[in-house]
Amino acid sequence: MLEITKSIEWDMGHRVPNHKHKCRNPHGHRYRLEMTVSGLISQEKGTSQEGMVHDFGDIKQSLLANICTRLDHCFMASEEDAIFASLSKNEGKDLNIVLVPFVPTAENIVVWCYERLKDSLPAHLQIVRLRLFETPTSYAEFFP
Ligand SMILES: [Zn+2]
Repeated sequence: MLEITKSIEWDMGHRVPNHKHKCRNPHGHRYRLEMTVSGLISQEKGTSQEGMVHDFGDIKQSLLANICTRLDHCFMASEEDAIFASLSKNEGKDLNIVLVPFVPTAENIVVWCYERLKDSLPAHLQIVRLRLFETPTSYAEFFP
């Protein structure tokens, strides 16, 4: 068994409404998600995937389709965050606000990412770790 990792990055705003310090203010991050999957090296002679656990390009497509497309340049807010819940209902303003049923901390967001990714990979691969960087020095890790 081998593990391989692919990462993607996107820009997103959020806030932690009840935070005791500055994170209660709307602000943004360059998020980075690293997905590690495990599997066996393909021995199928003459195929595109010979010698690979999985094609990095295919993993990237899954990450882009399930995470980046939805979150890049959005503002993620809790459904209970009255300010942004209200803003999201402003029709015609074309604001990309993603309401979620949790406080959008790195910890909660990485689990949200897992829920969107878990069924996107072929059956022979298992997600063994998702690591979400909120800043270059801070990350949350989820081990399914
Ligand atoms: Zn933040």
